[in-house]
Amino acid sequence: MNQLHPLQHAWMTDEIAMLRDQSRRFIEQRLVPQLPRWRAQKFVERSAWAEVGAMGMLLPEIPEAFGGSGATLAHQLVLQEEFARAEVPGSSLVHCLVAHYLLDFGTAEQQLRWLPRMVSGDLFAAIAMTEPGAGSDLQAITTHAIRDGDHYVVNGAKTFITNGSTANLIVVVAKTDPTRGAKGMSLIVLETENLPGFRVGRILEKIGQHASDTCELFFDDVCVPVDYLIGGVESLGFTQLMGQLPFERMLIAVASATIIERAVELTVAYTKERKAFGQTLFDFQNTRFKLAECATVAHVMRSFVNDCIQRLVDGTLDAEAAYMAKWWCSEQQCKVLDECLQLFGGYGYMTDFPIARMYADARVQRIYGGSNEVMKELIARKL
Ligand SMILES: Cc1cc2nc3c(=O)[nH]c(=O)nc-3n(C[C@H](O)[C@H](O)[C@H](O)COP(=O)(O)OP(=O)(O)OC[C@H]3O[C@@H](n4cnc5c(N)ncnc54)[C@H](O)[C@@H]3O)c2cc1C
Repeated sequence: MNQLHPLQHAWMTDEIAMLRDQSRRFIEQRLVPQLPRWRAQKFVERSAWAEVGAMGMLLPEIPEAFGGSGATLAHQLVLQEEFARAEVPGSSLVHCLVAHYLLDFGTAEQQLRWLPRMVSGDLFAAIAMTEPGAGSDLQAITTHAIRDGDHYVVNGAKTFITNGSTANLIVVVAKTDPTRGAKGMSLIVLETENLPGFRVGRILEKIGQHASDTCELFFDDVCVPVDYLIGGVESLGFTQLMGQLPFERMLIAVASATIIERAVELTVAYTKERKAFGQTLFDFQNTRFKLAECATVAHVMRSFVNDCIQRLVDGTLDAEAAYMAKWWCSEQQCKVLDECLQLFGGYGYMTDFPIARMYADARVQRIYGGSNEVMKELIARKL
């Protein structure tokens, strides 16, 4: 059991602790052995996510009426912790976000149409916001969806889309009113299998997160039924996106907290084993001090993240606390991984060693989900 993870916190009920243990066993037995293949091919097959779905581990927090278990957001967060801990890519995190757009903003018909199949993993989702010319400045997107009778016609291009090649349900952020900025944006669902005019570009080469497919997407006169507009009313896209941000940012912060704990565990174990100058690395005062610092960061972060999770479950988490959690936890993740990698010496640079992969995987945490600079800007606006 991980001693840095204070189980006594209120959100970690016995039931959630049981889910964590079950999912850890499942991930170790069924997913971890496949990771080398997934990294080599640069994606996880949809069938693997369907297996996760069959275990009830994709979207347990979705109400029973839509095929879920009616659990809490904390159940989802504990699953994300376990995926992150085992280096399983964050694809299910994106899938989960899309499900929550539908749950919170979809019409009853849309929820019934898509959520049960998302719970089972029959549908696996992506969210396509970023474009080659617009990332942080989302209102500058040019992809548009123009109504033509009972259809929208979607044209444009997206990039850096997680699950881009494996998803068969993609929520596209598009302008239904291209004359306006944020106020002209809508979220439109595409069921992409055999969809004329939809094309996946290449899987992009990244410095880390090799098992997740990050792709370019192209839309060339793609026809989508009008009732695939989330919520059924145009131009609500920006508000809908903003509504999910605290949860999205917590998903990132929770992964940072877990990975830091794992990095400290791995580094303590390695430095107690490895010898130099007739003693273990752990016997050097520098090693002990560095690890004491990293363990302190892990502990402080866990307290902060636990508090945020509790407030998220209670419905009282303010957006600013979530922005703080996102930037601060991801920044600490990169710092701690750098310190830990150093203590592995040359082995820390070898991708056979988890610490090397975790170091490379960490870097993007400061960029996606809203860059850390954007987080600070948003926090500063409320000061
Ligand atoms: C691996 C990976 C997976 C991703 N997955 C997805 C996905 O599934 N769906 C999706 O839609 N997108 C995804 N993204 C895109 C990601 O969200 C964007 O990369 C991110 O929002 C930043 O946008 P950008 O890359 O265009 O950088 P830019 O917006 O060009 O920013 C460049 C730099 O300028 C800084 N900057 C920008 N604006 C400001 C400001 N106002 N004040 C101060 N500094 C500023 C940024 O912080 C950054 O450091 C992914 C990206 C990566 C790398």
